[in-house]
Amino acid sequence: MNKTSKRPIEVRYRGKGVRKCKICGTSRGIIRKYNLNICRRCFREIGESIGFKKFG
Ligand SMILES: [Zn+2]
Repeated sequence: MNKTSKRPIEVRYRGKGVRKCKICGTSRGIIRKYNLNICRRCFREIGESIGFKKFG
């Protein structure tokens, strides 16, 4: 139950407006509706594994 927050956060987004797919890295077709920050293509692949059977 110890929170060790001494390590600096290395991975950080460049800006609020810049969103990239955290899987393939593309910035096109990002789905941030469910706060996933992944693109449509990756969403279709992992969507089923995370509970979304169909999208759209
Ligand atoms: Zn992707």
